[in-house]
Amino acid sequence: MRAQQGTKMHEQSRRGVCLVISAPSGAGKSTIAQALRAADPTIFTSISVTTRQPRPGEEEGVHYYFRDLATFRQMAQNGELLEWAEVFGRGYGTPKAPMEEALAAGRDVILDIDWQGHRLIREALPEDCVGLFVLPPSLEELEKRLRGRDSDSEEEIASRMQAAMGEISHWQEFDYALVNDELQSAINEARAVLTAARLARHRRKDLAALWPVEQSV
Ligand code: 5GP
Repeated sequence: MRAQQGTKMHEQSRRGVCLVISAPSGAGKSTIAQALRAADPTIFTSISVTTRQPRPGEEEGVHYYFRDLATFRQMAQNGELLEWAEVFGRGYGTPKAPMEEALAAGRDVILDIDWQGHRLIREALPEDCVGLFVLPPSLEELEKRLRGRDSDSEEEIASRMQAAMGEISHWQEFDYALVNDELQSAINEARAVLTAARLARHRRKDLAALWPVEQSV
């Protein structure tokens, strides 16, 4: 066995990892996802489509593509969304084409979506998908964090707490789980998950080409 010399195959043939990060609202998954993206600009950011209204500071094409329900449903019907779901009575979905392109080009993608989305992505992209669930340290702490967002009413907080319980009940469907007690440690752990996912043997088609095993000795 001999490694092929002088080839760029290592760079060219790795397919991207699709890291799906899920968590109840307020557990810090967006902050963790943003930190991973900031540390590695080659990571592709998938921008979801949503039918909800923008929150203060949210921008079209940066945080979400904001669309009305009719347009959203049309996109889903046309097969333009890799997965979509209704969360809190609003539609959310992942545009298919940019994501496929990124993975094929060897770029890792981080999806910051809910457990339903994770299930669908895992079905659609079983080889590429790696699931990471972010748990809050406790329900009390989660509620405290949810109250820190002044854009949400009491009613909304109560409904988000209930949704949080529902979301958390799916954490065991994920490949990895971490507790976001201290943000920097959580970020480091999430980065370790991404690194491990990149190195998973079944994704090393680049190495299989460089190091073909003709025969075990
Ligand atoms: P928010 O309205 O707070 O931005 O998001 C509400 C929930 O929708 C979060 O749990 C978020 O992860 C989820 N979400 C955002 N984008 C998508 C998406 O493209 N697909 C799915 N399934 N869920 C999403």
